[in-house]
Amino acid sequence: MKPIDDPNHPNNSVKHHTGKLCIKGCGRPAGTFWNSQLCQVCNAIRVSRITAQLEGIMDSFDNKPRAAFRRGGAERRGGRC
Ligand SMILES: [Zn+2]
Repeated sequence: MKPIDDPNHPNNSVKHHTGKLCIKGCGRPAGTFWNSQLCQVCNAIRVSRITAQLEGIMDSFDNKPRAAFRRGGAERRGGRC
């Protein structure tokens, strides 16, 4: 379990609560080490969603002919591989 997903991790402790409620309207107290406006649960969901989006972007890079592109770039610049 990642620290951001662990409700018992020190970075999710009451110490980081702001005294306000989570802006997602879940009714839980807002504030973690990583985000002052979201509760631990909503912040973990948010980070999970962003991570999935970044992984999708990385996967899309894997579908490109990167090696051929690099070779072409080096040849155009007159450099060595
Ligand atoms: Zn919340």
